[in-house]
Amino acid sequence: MTGLAQVRQALHGLQQAGLRRTLRTCHSACAPQLTVSMAGQDASPMLAFASNDYLGLAGHPALRAALIEGVQEWGVGSGASHLISGHYAVHEALEARLAASQAAHIPQAGALYLGSGYLANSGLLPALAALAPSEIFSADLNHASIIDGCRLARCPAQVWPHQDLAQLAAQLQASRAQQKIVVTDAVFSMDGVIAPLAALLALCEEYDAWLVLDDAHGFGVLGAQGHGALEHAALHSERLIYLGTLGKAAGVGGAFIAAHADLIEWLRQKMRSYIFTTASAPALACALLAALDLIEGTEGRTARAHLQDLRTSWQSMALPDCWPRLTSPTAIQALLLGENQAALDLSHALWRRGVWVPAIRPPTVPAGTARLRITLSAAHSLADLQRLQHALQAIHREGL
Ligand SMILES: *Cc1c(COP(=O)(O)O)cnc(C)c1O
Repeated sequence: MTGLAQVRQALHGLQQAGLRRTLRTCHSACAPQLTVSMAGQDASPMLAFASNDYLGLAGHPALRAALIEGVQEWGVGSGASHLISGHYAVHEALEARLAASQAAHIPQAGALYLGSGYLANSGLLPALAALAPSEIFSADLNHASIIDGCRLARCPAQVWPHQDLAQLAAQLQASRAQQKIVVTDAVFSMDGVIAPLAALLALCEEYDAWLVLDDAHGFGVLGAQGHGALEHAALHSERLIYLGTLGKAAGVGGAFIAAHADLIEWLRQKMRSYIFTTASAPALACALLAALDLIEGTEGRTARAHLQDLRTSWQSMALPDCWPRLTSPTAIQALLLGENQAALDLSHALWRRGVWVPAIRPPTVPAGTARLRITLSAAHSLADLQRLQHALQAIHREGL
């Protein structure tokens, strides 16, 4: 079998394994209440616990206004990659602001703004590994973009169980590589667990390794000012390489790497995913500057406090015992279902009741740990959580 027959058979295989994903189309802006359709069905109103818009900024009037103003001043496209002619004063202002957000934690911090977190991770590790013969130590639940970065780095890579620092220490101890790079999600994206950040940094100091932290789910959310994992754990070191994404809590899109200015300059010279791609629209940087104002200001503090309240309320709500919670100190609150089909069935049953919670299956999570990933947002109300709770209880009572 070849060609399209092969393609159809492969798609059928995904279907049979409960691994075929269905695209849903939103017909209104990102918010807890939105209108959504699934292929072949009419759009209907849904209560969503599905996005990573943790602070409710994606549709915020201040960001909308800043974007519109940015378009008036800077037009739409950037026209080229950063190192050719696509680097604008607003990009520069944004990078300075992002560097400042980590300056208390990284000496002489600089920052590099990229099109997405995927580009940041997949480009960062190869550029680091180009400095010297390297070995990478990657936590087992790391995001796919880190895994791809490890592959592209073309140096030996080892995986360590994310909670088992003794194993990481043993691996670091045994390594003869000239340059060691430890990389982990700061907040694991599919269970919301925060990595043991201070202990990780201590290990990296002991074994002279870089510590790369992917804080996609912490930037904007963790820390009194919303500056993320380094602020939360009060870390300080020149071996820290911090990666924040800007399409989740920051509500816009893109990502940044913060590190010592010398390292940032090396990345600007060498990161292929920075060099060989057209720079993001400058107006997006205007929207991001507005997002940073909100994150660091009173509104951000209020939103983070509300998010905490929602989380504690959710964790104290009674739920059917057959769906154990993966409790976490963050906005990511999963229910463990195990089998792919069980997660899908529950997600569909909620959908029929007007509640959208995505089922997460392998390869996003390890086989046998399919789950519902409930993401809370400061834009949710307590009543929204109660609706989710009641829907889960009703499904349990009445069967799927
Ligand atoms: C979402 C995510 C990314 C990718 O970021 P994008 O900006 O969406 O490309 C990287 N790492 C982690 C842990 C993520 O959750």
